[in-house]
Amino acid sequence: MKNSMNAEQLKNMFLSVAQKIVDSEDFLTEIDIKIGDGDHGIGMSVGFRNVLKELPKCQFTGAEDVFKMVGTILLDTMGGASGVLFGTMFISGIIKRPVSEEMKLSDFAEVFRKSLNALQQRGKAHIGDKTMIDAFEPAVIGLEESVCNGLSLVDGLNVAAIKAKEGMEYTKQVVAKFGRAKSYGEKAIGLQDAGATSVWIIFQEIADWSTGNLS
Ligand code: ADP
Ligand code: MG
Repeated sequence: MKNSMNAEQLKNMFLSVAQKIVDSEDFLTEIDIKIGDGDHGIGMSVGFRNVLKELPKCQFTGAEDVFKMVGTILLDTMGGASGVLFGTMFISGIIKRPVSEEMKLSDFAEVFRKSLNALQQRGKAHIGDKTMIDAFEPAVIGLEESVCNGLSLVDGLNVAAIKAKEGMEYTKQVVAKFGRAKSYGEKAIGLQDAGATSVWIIFQEIADWSTGNLS
């Protein structure tokens, strides 16, 4: 079992994530129609379709460069609020990090913790506000706890996916404090947040790809 990922593996992992998001476009649209403007699926799909198109053309040496490229493509092509949010999710964590050949579980925890902090600084959302933070923060904590518990990379990434899913489910219980869903008030109870759903899909595919390719 391999306990770290190099740039080539990260590239393949992100291509797999991108395909999963593209395949989930209708599912995400359905969710965002209920408590948003219905554009989340299209936005995510446009961004990740560009990842599918551009990433195979790139040669990477450092692991961080893959994150940077994915985030930049999303930022440049998605547009709107979620382009910035999901671009930040991948770019902000690697800023000022020395380039490394391999990423271990502790590196994933560090990178995503930094991204989460940047996202919260930018968007001001906290747990319980019915946003992508509700899935992202538990996933990051899951990574950090897995590092402390000495879990393997594959096991730690699977913990993060489980935590992201729990966070996504939790968004059904709360009212929205941000975006268009805010105007739905109590009517949003029972409905899950679209951004949190995308975060879960991303972490689930990261875990599934790792289980299939590193175990
Ligand atoms: P828009 O709100 O412009 O229609 P999308 O529908 O693509 O953009 O994305 C909406 C998602 O963005 C929400 O489901 C939520 O998870 C996330 N979101 C909105 N505002 C914030 C914020 N301030 N911080 C974090 N995430 C946010
Ligand atoms: Mg929307």
